[in-house]
Amino acid sequence: MLSNYQGSANALVELLRKQGVEDEVVLNAIANTPRHMFVDEVLKHKSYENTALPIGQGQTISQPFIVAKMTEVLKQVGVKGRILEVGTGSGYQTAVLAQVFEQVFSIERIKSLQWQARRRLHLLDLYNVTMKHGDGWKGWASKAPFAGIIVTAAAQSVPDELLAQLEDGGAMVIPIGVEAQTLTLFVKEGEQFIRHALAPVRFVPLVAGEVG
Ligand code: SAM
Repeated sequence: MLSNYQGSANALVELLRKQGVEDEVVLNAIANTPRHMFVDEVLKHKSYENTALPIGQGQTISQPFIVAKMTEVLKQVGVKGRILEVGTGSGYQTAVLAQVFEQVFSIERIKSLQWQARRRLHLLDLYNVTMKHGDGWKGWASKAPFAGIIVTAAAQSVPDELLAQLEDGGAMVIPIGVEAQTLTLFVKEGEQFIRHALAPVRFVPLVAGEVG
């Protein structure tokens, strides 16, 4: 699937390594994920650049550095097993998560994006992913609890319904804020959530409700 693009994917991995991504499993997943399959034909020549790109509907495929860092953060705090992703978008982060964790559940509110992402994941034979169209603010109660939750759009406030779907010892990584956004990590310890501010970021907003 990568053939013509393997050199570009390897160069991207070396750049992420220089920028501080250390986990070899995560870097391998980036090296093996054909990012050109997650963007429109006209953007394929930019698909291994370390930038977010438009995917239609006013949404973006996330910057590879952010995808790698968010995945690495969950792994570094010991998350293993079942992951919930809120905001499937193109499905690129989903594909990376599927190569790092046992099972991935992913929710997208815009149906056309969700369908495209589903097709791409099938083409890549990533069968440990379950996807649905819906409002991720509410999480996926019937599949909870999750070892890790990753939210790929910025929430104005902390979504308590998502925190409630974490298992003990689990963690959620999420951008919080409107204009000024902070990538934030929550780790569940018993009945408590330990909050860590990680870095300033810029994401599209997490919007309540779904679009058919
Ligand atoms: N990580 C994705 C990728 O690499 O393609 C990019 C995700 S994009 C930055 C954020 C996505 O979150 C958008 O596709 C948007 O429609 C979705 N989104 C926003 N609010 C949502 C919600 N309440 N539930 C589910 N998805 C939501």
